[in-house]
Amino acid sequence: MAGDGMAGGVPPAKWARWIELAEAINQARTQYYQHDKPTLSDDEYDAYFRELLSLEQDLPQLQSGDSPSLSIGGRSSEMFNPVEHLQRMYSLDNVFSSEELDGWFGRVERGINEVPEFLCELKIDGLAVDAVYVDGKLQSLATRGDGRVGEDVTHNAAFIAAVPAALTKPKGAAMPALLEVRGEIFLPVATFQQINEEQLALGLSPFANPRNAAAGTLRQRIDRREDELRLAEQSPTPGERGASKIARLRAELESSIGRLNGLGLTVHGIGAVDGFTITRQSQGYEFLSALGLPVSKLARVEKSIEGVRAFIDYFGEHRHDVKHEIDGVVIKVDDLALQVKLGETARAPRWAIAYKYPPEVVRTRLLDIQVNVGRTGRVTPFAVMEPVKVAGSTVSMATLHNAFEVERKGVLIGDMVFLRKAGDVIPEVLGPVVEVRTGSERPFVMPTKCPACGSKLGPAKDGDKDFRCPNARTCPAQLRERLSHVAARGALDIEGLGEKAAYALLECGLVGDEGDLFLLAESDLLGCEFFRREPAKGEDGPQLTENAKNMWTQVQLAKTRPLWRVLVALSIRHVGPTAAQSLARIFKNIDAIAAASVVELAEVEGVGETIALAVHEWFGEPWHQEVVAKWRAGGVQLIDEAGTSASTELAGLVVVITGSLAGYTRDSAAAAVTIRGGKVSGSVSAKTSVLVAGENAGTKFDKALALGVPVLGPAGFEVLLADGLAAALTTIK
Ligand code: NAD
Repeated sequence: MAGDGMAGGVPPAKWARWIELAEAINQARTQYYQHDKPTLSDDEYDAYFRELLSLEQDLPQLQSGDSPSLSIGGRSSEMFNPVEHLQRMYSLDNVFSSEELDGWFGRVERGINEVPEFLCELKIDGLAVDAVYVDGKLQSLATRGDGRVGEDVTHNAAFIAAVPAALTKPKGAAMPALLEVRGEIFLPVATFQQINEEQLALGLSPFANPRNAAAGTLRQRIDRREDELRLAEQSPTPGERGASKIARLRAELESSIGRLNGLGLTVHGIGAVDGFTITRQSQGYEFLSALGLPVSKLARVEKSIEGVRAFIDYFGEHRHDVKHEIDGVVIKVDDLALQVKLGETARAPRWAIAYKYPPEVVRTRLLDIQVNVGRTGRVTPFAVMEPVKVAGSTVSMATLHNAFEVERKGVLIGDMVFLRKAGDVIPEVLGPVVEVRTGSERPFVMPTKCPACGSKLGPAKDGDKDFRCPNARTCPAQLRERLSHVAARGALDIEGLGEKAAYALLECGLVGDEGDLFLLAESDLLGCEFFRREPAKGEDGPQLTENAKNMWTQVQLAKTRPLWRVLVALSIRHVGPTAAQSLARIFKNIDAIAAASVVELAEVEGVGETIALAVHEWFGEPWHQEVVAKWRAGGVQLIDEAGTSASTELAGLVVVITGSLAGYTRDSAAAAVTIRGGKVSGSVSAKTSVLVAGENAGTKFDKALALGVPVLGPAGFEVLLADGLAAALTTIK
């Protein structure tokens, strides 16, 4: 242990902290590398590791031979035979910011007295393997282990299509007598999700990240499963129980093999070789590709530091556009002679660095599970968590969908949980960190009564997973949600009528339900504190606030919106903009829709049976008919004579949206454009009419500038939606 005999000027508190960190890191490594079940998030682990490195930098006496800083992650598990690598495998040093990257560029330059060419690659979130080919035949496949000795998984290689059993003879060159390649075994994103679904279905914890899932998949003892099956099959009197055991073992083996076959491989390094020479790593990749080994098509040689930065920025924004998860970019000095000159530290090459992107899986405490009642009465449990920063935003809530899902995920209130938020994707609780439970955690119990109105909750139909509050008409939670939905951008788009205003209208009794909204007189709003202000000098009596006046005007305007928006605003189950536009186009009149049979409705393109049934049922409900009657009385347009069903304000425009826009998800921003007849494209080209750039806009912004495509900010986007392109362009300074 470092401490022994190293009094040498280390303050006891620093020493104690070093020991604490080293223990935490070693424990985390065992969980992560040997059991594929981390108990810390990568972010937490990286923070511990960096603190340890910084302590050792200040007090080099702390760095004893067994410091985690001198070794690379894993030790081989005894489940597998050990394989000694022909050449050592290393880890990578990490940087987390542009400044730290500059530090690395500086060290490289000082080490070789020049700015080299850099090979930029994606840092695949998988696990490193070492494959040895002798005379073109796969001889062994092993995990990285401690860098010198890894775990033998050669037997499994036969089931992984991505790992060639034999190399292709390259054109114009001899098959190398010996080739040791390093690469990353990974799971494609979709397979990762599927494996986690399967884990949950089997009552097992999901994997925290694709790397652990890939490791868990690769490190299966297929040979043992095969032996077990063989033994069962050879049993002289199998009988009925024996037969079912054989069937089970066979199914398990097939499933394990299926999972193995789902693994991908990308090679990214060369170890020992005999029979060819190369001078650049990129040239090596070309040769590996010619041998039939899977090499990334996205690797690029960059001649300048600016080029490297552009590569990092590009994939920071396109992180989810590749088939596997990436957690950063790896930058390598391309010239092999320069690599040798720079050499390695005890755990990582000096000629390469990993630039890590912000984490997408973090760990936080599940403080409570509460339920939310939606506008159609669906009761949804959601997780309330200690706020935590993930993928660029702070998250404290995540939906848990339904009670079955809570059970399936195995989370208890009070648990530490892994939380995942990938880019714009909705945050998701992955599962509990069972290992750190204290015993004080408690299970979630689905309430039997609606928290908003006290009605008895239950599934709408037998077998439904969702619980519903049956009190659709007067449950305050449903009313509130429905009323603010009427005002949503995709519905009647009433500015100023958000959740708070909806709540106030209901609380003050100005509306009993959404039917009353269009019957309100402007002066009615004075009856509610939320909408009024104290009189100023010279005014007699309370006045409406500016917001209230604006909302009132918007409510009047909403009466003239096209029929399809009215249909969306009515909160008919399953009816979104697409179905609503089709219905409005064909029937042109709300009364015709109400009178249509299920068959007639289902015949409409984009409608189908489920929606048809929901529409028919909705119009059959007397109080729904009352809502429609009140809207009619209030002057809401319920006929679509002019064929205005599909909006055309933005017709002919190709809009690209990048960065984050307050108040929108990427989907809702895109929907706001498409419902106005515009087209949304994923990339900027000469055909792009306009780029909408929110916060953290990346390379699309540069490209738009280069191509002369106009760029709108968030305010310009609002003008675009409200008044079209010409008006929006005037907002550009
Ligand atoms: P690393 O994952 O940060 O980087 C080294 C590895 O990157 C290589 O071994 C290789 O497998 C991989 N890699 C992917 N693409 C590559 C490419 N194109 N070129 C070269 N290599 C590429 O380092 P590591 O030592 O394997 O693991 C340390 C990291 O693992 C930590 O930073 C942390 O994120 C995670 N970790 C987490 C825990 C935990 O408890 N959560 C514990 C241990 C490790």
